[in-house]
Amino acid sequence: MTLNLDTFINMMHPITLAGDDFKYFVDQFEDIRILKYKLPGFELLTLQQKQFIYYLSQAALSGRDILWDQNFRFNINIRKTLETILEYYSGDRSSDEYKAFLVYSKRVLFSNGIHHHYSNDKLKPGFTESYFSSLINGTGQHNLPLSNGQTKDELISILSPIIFNKKLFGRKVEQRAGADIVAESAINLYENVNQKEVEAFYSGEIDPKDPHPISLGLNSKVAKKNGKIVEEVYKSGGLYGTPIDQIIMWLEKAIIVAESDMQRKEIHLLIDFYRSGDLKIWDDFNVFWAKDNEPEVDYNNGFIETYSDPLGMKATWEAIVNYTDLEATKRTRIITANAQWFEDNSPIQPQYKKEKVTGVAAKVINIAMLGGDCYPVSPLGINLPNANWIRKEVGSKSVTLANIIDAYDITSQGNGFLEEFAADQSEVDRIKKYGSISDALHTDLHECVGHASGKLREGTDPKALKNYASSLEEARADLFALYYMMDKKLLELGLLPDEDAAKASYDAYIRNGLLTQIVRIKPDKDIEEAHMRNRSAISHWVYDKGRAENVVEVFKKEGKSYIRINDYYKLRNLFGELLREIQRVKSEGDYEGGKSIIENYGVKVDPRLHVEILERYDKLNLAPYTGFVNPMLLPVYDTNGEISDVKVEYVNDYLGQMLYYGKNYSFL
Ligand code: ZN
Repeated sequence: MTLNLDTFINMMHPITLAGDDFKYFVDQFEDIRILKYKLPGFELLTLQQKQFIYYLSQAALSGRDILWDQNFRFNINIRKTLETILEYYSGDRSSDEYKAFLVYSKRVLFSNGIHHHYSNDKLKPGFTESYFSSLINGTGQHNLPLSNGQTKDELISILSPIIFNKKLFGRKVEQRAGADIVAESAINLYENVNQKEVEAFYSGEIDPKDPHPISLGLNSKVAKKNGKIVEEVYKSGGLYGTPIDQIIMWLEKAIIVAESDMQRKEIHLLIDFYRSGDLKIWDDFNVFWAKDNEPEVDYNNGFIETYSDPLGMKATWEAIVNYTDLEATKRTRIITANAQWFEDNSPIQPQYKKEKVTGVAAKVINIAMLGGDCYPVSPLGINLPNANWIRKEVGSKSVTLANIIDAYDITSQGNGFLEEFAADQSEVDRIKKYGSISDALHTDLHECVGHASGKLREGTDPKALKNYASSLEEARADLFALYYMMDKKLLELGLLPDEDAAKASYDAYIRNGLLTQIVRIKPDKDIEEAHMRNRSAISHWVYDKGRAENVVEVFKKEGKSYIRINDYYKLRNLFGELLREIQRVKSEGDYEGGKSIIENYGVKVDPRLHVEILERYDKLNLAPYTGFVNPMLLPVYDTNGEISDVKVEYVNDYLGQMLYYGKNYSFL
């Protein structure tokens, strides 16, 4: 599972790091902005760790074409055509049509294909078909994908309808009710087959009694060839064999400098999997990978997430490389070391406290390279492996991508969002000063002790809260964090600089829950997503219960709504009260009690307020989607040809990086 931006909505407030003059912004076009991320502490890693990261990074970049081809079978030819025009077109590059072509190219490169990465709709070019022909005719042959003596005219006649005809391959993934979601989706995980044929092909393949079932069909394409349905497996010598061989080559180098025998064994299994395509070996690999939860350098590389398959079976290729954020991990260690203190002192009823609580050591990492389906749009958190039986029997690794989240947070400063929605300058200043640390601490408390706290009454069905379970569970963890944020224990432990930092976190939480998070909700819609429901429920509950004493105030200034917290200590007590109640609901399995909190406070949006907030948000003109350029990792060689260091070079040219990858990592 990857956690996307929706999960981190409360992090949408700006933050500054003192003395930080790193320029995150790289490019902006259409609905997209491009940032770069920083590699904090990379230079402090050992030479062996840097080499390990370097080889894994090369492996992460080598599978790029796999994803492009998976997304749509004409994507690579279209990309090669765009790349050749971008590099060699000899005509006027200052015309409006050329500029429109440039924007279209950037969008295609961003989406890893011609369909929008989020909406799945085919991207609409802002230039004409005849202009497209003139671009190709104004460009030498060079790297144009002309096969077997094909002429430029023939290439144009193939690509033009694919790019310009709205109806042809209009949706990457079609989920419309009544549609044949396989046959009508342009995604290239299936070819010439329909939903029924695929389902029949796989039916009966998994024994429902098998306690360790493989992830059937995860790494293959199903196609009809000469009237026969076949499965083409992604492996060395099979489908995508060439890029897979490149990945294997880099993984073999990585093995030599891996951090432990465990990691070496694990990478061997990954290579075996890429060689054989055997999903049993994929599970073996994941078992080792999940067990090995202490490496400082870690990675994901493979066919992992199935979000793009209309049938939720086949995975797209993705890769990341990361290293532990030692500073942040120090913080989470202090919290887990004091987990029992937090439990003993929490406001929940004594009979629902754990006598012995062990905090969860959630790991904070920094990304060193994004590849495949994680590039250029990065996840913010990752929880893998996906196979349910491995999660249950062995466990999973949960990580937060610190440097990616920092880039989001820091760049939202100065975009006007905070200035628009904060009540006054002192609130803005406080968030700018403390937002970063209080945000991180909230997340740590939520993850390390919040979810781990409390116990069920004997005999309570753990599934009793049903569809409200995840909203209530997130609320419980959030409330645990909010309650302790204002505790002097945090100052004693050196986790917070002063009480103003806690106030900043309360301001941000309530402002988001009462006002700003609904910018992500379409007019007339309810709040559906569990984290958003939780934040809305907490904020509206404390607002309502504190109304008599005006603890939290919603007021209008020049027709615009704002919030103000009049008593932070009373607000803290209200958080404690609700925590106690939600713990009771969970411990006793009180479905009706849980339902009433979520339904009364978490779901509905005030329509008048909604219109106002959306209008204010629209005026800010913020690009809704963000992607990243990777840094360049440059090995330094000594006189013996051995790597003696790896340097980080930050990249400021989005298109330049895309063209560089096209030249150096294209293996299909
Ligand atoms: Zn949570």
